[in-house]
Amino acid sequence: MYRHRKERRLALREHARKETKMKTNSTDVKTLVCCSCGGVTTGRQWHNRDLGYGLCGKCAKWIATRLTVKDMESYYGIKDINYFPEK
Ligand SMILES: [Zn+2]
Repeated sequence: MYRHRKERRLALREHARKETKMKTNSTDVKTLVCCSCGGVTTGRQWHNRDLGYGLCGKCAKWIATRLTVKDMESYYGIKDINYFPEK
C-alpha cells in the first residue's frame, strides 16, 4: 500500500516537472523581440506569447509595477526564467 502511494507521488512529481519544463521551455535562452517596445532582448519563449516574442528587461521592470505577479506570469512567464527584469 505504502509502496503504491510512493510510486504515485513520484509519478505525479515527474509529470509536474515535465509540465513546467514544457511551459517554460526552460532549456534555451533565445533572442526575442520585446512584445511591449519592439526592442531586441533575450529570454525564454513563454507558451502564452507569440513565437519569437518576449519581454525586455526595461519593460519587465516597468510592467511589474502595474501588474500582479499572477498576471505577469500569465502574460509573460516566470521572472528570471522567461524574462529578466532590469535591476
Ligand atoms: Zn521592451
